[in-house]
Order: sequence, then structure tokens, then C-alpha cells
Amino acid sequence: MSSIEQAADMLQESETVVALIGAGLSTPSGMPTYANSSGQWRNTESRNWTERDYFNEHPRWWFNRFWKFYNQRNASTPSVGHYALKDMVDASAIDAVITQNIDGYEIESGISEETVIEAHGSYRTMRCTETDGFGDSCGFRISTDEWRQGNPARSVPLCPDCKPYSVHVFGDKNTERVETRRRILKPEIMLYGELLESSWETKDRIDSSLDSADALIVIGTSLHVMGWRATVRRFAEDDKKTVVVINPNKTSADDMDGVTIIQQPAEVVVPGLRDLLIA
Ligand SMILES: [Zn+2]
Repeated sequence: MSSIEQAADMLQESETVVALIGAGLSTPSGMPTYANSSGQWRNTESRNWTERDYFNEHPRWWFNRFWKFYNQRNASTPSVGHYALKDMVDASAIDAVITQNIDGYEIESGISEETVIEAHGSYRTMRCTETDGFGDSCGFRISTDEWRQGNPARSVPLCPDCKPYSVHVFGDKNTERVETRRRILKPEIMLYGELLESSWETKDRIDSSLDSADALIVIGTSLHVMGWRATVRRFAEDDKKTVVVINPNKTSADDMDGVTIIQQPAEVVVPGLRDLLIA
């Protein structure tokens, strides 16, 4: 029996199955990963791109990169793995999908928004945000596509609803000037060092779907993010629960007892599981 057949049997015997998705499912779509899923930053650029402080201080740089990401993403489509996942959701073989990815492929593949939990947010919407620590944002929210239709590429999107506000900027030699600024529309993706408006609601949804699951299928992540590793360990240590990890490279679950590891790419294993589970 192959490891895919074994995993299919285990999932078939489970009542409630939750899928946890990492960057490996999006790789075949040709997207550069938003953050390095190994948890080791390749360079300063990817670190800057994922830090809220850097976003606040260098919005022009940040949006220049964001609009490149946006163009690449909009020119690409979900992978065979995403569509196989959708088939399994449709057949009730998978009950909830938690994704670490911000690229929105799960929803584009046709899985309903009620079934998908985007743990780190999504690039598809933007919300008014404060970057100077002065006052609150007005809560204005717009789809990124809609904003882009009326606005040029590469610019920093400014909130159309908020009034401009003044900031005292202190320079060298005790100089001080007053600058008028407007609040920025920030894509609703979670950066390091921030909590999104939706963070608590998202966390509640994640907790309740994991609590009700007796099987966890982890796809395309090396599990170096601390919280996810702990989740996998919790499932592995519970005799009544099943956990399957699918990733072509090493993961931090490799040395855990009670985990079924399939060391192959998601675009091979997920369609394979689909064929076995909903044949
Ligand atoms: Zn605003």
C-alpha cells in the first residue's frame, strides 16, 4: 500500500477533516511565495516586505512591490492541487480549509468563503489604516481590483473617506516641520508586528474548526511557524486523531510520532488523494 493510499484510508475513517495549506500548494501556479515558508529569510527585501514597521516607514517601496505581486497573481490561476482540494470539499471529504497563503487561490478555485479561513489575510481587499499612530482609521474598505480600476499602478493608495491630518516631523538640529498626510489603504494581509481588524474573528474560526476536527491534513508547508507545529503535535499526540503531512522537503513534523508523512509535491499527492477519496 502506498503512503497516499494509507493516508486516504485514514482520512476516510475520520468524521471531520481540516486541511492546513502552505505555500507549496501555490508553487505550481508560478507565484513567488509571499514569505519564505521555511521561516528563514532569504534576504533583507523579503523581511522588509513582511514587516509592518517597514510598511509604515516606506509605503512607496512597499506598494511598488505589492503591485508587482498583484500583477503576477492576477496573471496566474489556481493549480491542479487547488482544484483537487475543491473537489474534496464538494464531496465533503474535507470540511474546512485553513490557508497560510494570501494569494486567494482557494477561493478562486471555487471553495466557498465560509469554508476557507485565510489565516494571514488576503491581497484581495484593502482597508484604511493609520501609519503614524495618530487617531483611528475610518474603516473604509474596498476590493483591490475595484481600487485598481480607477487608479494607476505602483502608487500608494490613499483613503478617499478620511480627512487629511497633520504630523510634526522632527529633523536634525532641532528643526521641526508640519506635514499634511492622508491615511493609506493597506491590503488586508497580516504583516509581522500587527493585528488586523479581523484577527480575533479569524483566530476564533481557526480554533473552532481545529477543535471539531479529528483529522488534519497539512499540505505544502515545512511547519516552521511555531503555532502550526504545535497544532500538528497536538493531533499527533491524540490517539483518536489523525494527521497527514504532505511536503516534498523536510518538515518540522518529521521527527514526531503519530504523523503520516508523504514526502512528495502537493500537486501530485492532493489529486491522488482526491481520486482515492471520491472515486
Ligand atoms: Zn479612512
